[in-house]
Formats: sequence, C-alpha cells, structure tokens
Amino acid sequence: MPRVLVLGGTDLANAFIKALQTAHPDLEIVLSLAGRTRSPKLPDCTIRTGGFGGAEGLSDYLREEGITALVDATHPYAAQISANAAKAAVEAGTPCLHLVRPTWEQAPYDNWHHARDYEEAAKHLDELSQTHPLTVFLTVGRQELKPFHHLMNCTHVVRSVEQPDEAELPPGARVVLARGPFREEDEAAFLKENRIDVIVSKNSGGTATYGKILAARSLRMPVVMVERPSLPEGEIVGDLESALVWVGGRLH
Ligand code: NAP
Repeated sequence: MPRVLVLGGTDLANAFIKALQTAHPDLEIVLSLAGRTRSPKLPDCTIRTGGFGGAEGLSDYLREEGITALVDATHPYAAQISANAAKAAVEAGTPCLHLVRPTWEQAPYDNWHHARDYEEAAKHLDELSQTHPLTVFLTVGRQELKPFHHLMNCTHVVRSVEQPDEAELPPGARVVLARGPFREEDEAAFLKENRIDVIVSKNSGGTATYGKILAARSLRMPVVMVERPSLPEGEIVGDLESALVWVGGRLH
C-alpha cells in the first residue's frame, strides 16, 4: 500500500490529510509532528512525534518506512525542517512537495513596516518608539521573543498558544494564551481594550490569524511584518487541490 508522510503541525496539514483521505481512502498517511504543542489538533491517521535527527535521519526514515511521497506542510517559518525535507528526499529518492499557504499581500490602508527577521522587527519598534512609548502586540510565537528584550520605550503584550518560558519573555510582558482562529471584530476589540499601538506579525497566510491584519487595517494601526524565510528548491504548491493532484500523480 502506498504511504504518504506529511510533515505537519499546522491547520493546513490537517486539512490536507482530510482531503487526501477522501480522495484516496486506501492510502496510508503518516503525520509527523515536532511535538512542541501539548495538545495539538489531530486528524484521524497514524501520528509520529519528535525530530528525525536532521536530514540524514529523515532520509533513513523515508527509506526504512517505504514512504512513497513526502509532503512538507509545515509552517512557512519552520525553515529547518523544510530544508531537511528537501535534502532527505533527494538522498532517499522520494518525491517531495512543499505545500505552503500564499502570503498575505499589503492592501490599501495597510501600514506595514517590512522586516527581514525578528532583529530587524525590533529595530523598527525602537525607531517607532523614539518619540513616545508604545504598547506592542507580539504575535510571533513564544520562541522568537529574545530580540524584543531590550526595547526601552515599549511595553509588550505577547499572545501564544503555549505559555512561554519566563526567560524568553521581554521584561514586564503580559501573556495572553489563545489559539486561533481569531475573528476581525474580536481582534479589533482586543486591540482597543489593550491600547495596542503596533502589532508584530509573521506573514503566516491563511485565514486563522488574518483577523488582526484586517483589524489593524480598519484601525489604521501599524504592523511590523516579519517576512518569510526562503523555501528550499523543489516543487511548491499553495493550495490543497494542487497538492492532491501532485500526490495522485505519485501513486501509480
Ligand atoms: P524548524 O525550526 O524548522 O524545525 C526544527 C527541528 O524540529 C527540525 O530540524 C526537526 O528536528 C524538528 N521538526 C520540526 N517540524 C517537525 C515535524 N513536523 N516533524 C518532525 N520533526 C519536526 O521548525 P519549528 O519552527 O521549530 O516548528 C516546529 C513545528 O511547529 C513544525 O511542525 C511547524 O509546522 C509547527 N509550527 C511552527 C510555527 C513557526 O512559526 N515556526 C508556527 C506554527 C506551527 P530534526 O532535525 O531532529 O528532524
């Protein structure tokens, strides 16, 4: 029986697995998770958890488990595992697809400050806060907070699915634990209630966390947008339908 390994940890991976099960009920699907979220949302398929041990470990896994095709549906900012997937697939001779949500595009009334990485995002905040103190809504995940520790004129509200380690938090930061999807009207109310001046966001794409971008647009609030890391070379699609077609082509 053909076996497809899906690298996940995202809503997109879960939606893809559901669609794949409908299109190919006899297919064996294995979902791989890094194992960092305590109670992840799980589809009904075989689950494996934890790192593979780099590209070499993943390549061994692909061979030993007889994987027919590999679909990397990890988060667009999970650059290491995507690079490992591309390398391992070449080494093992396994076809590999990167399924990545399209980016959000800047629209009229969006006031985005583009940053190549988290350090550059912190520099933008430093500049924006030169003349007056800012309350910053940090929505970049709990592992990317270190660059924001030394901003003298900023107070931070950190939103995260899991509680960040105390050492990771900028001094005085307030933590809000929440898991999307988030609606625009709720996000607008949150931004007003918490007197947020600026949002820091990844360009995650998709709808689940787009509410804050829509709310920022309607409130004319600046967003420091951390751009995506580049993807490894290989086959890339941005929608479920194209990914299903790709897998279908690897099953014969
Ligand atoms: P990363 O920096 O690219 O990966 C670090 C290491 O974690 C990888 O080298 C791999 O370890 C292991 N790993 C990551 N994803 C894995 C998976 N699906 N299955 C097995 N091992 C995995 O990724 P990350 O930023 O830590 O993200 C970890 C997971 O959280 C990903 O599955 C991603 O989709 C999800 N996620 C990430 C973000 C984000 O913003 N980064 C947001 C939402 C969800 P080995 O080298 O030992 O194989």
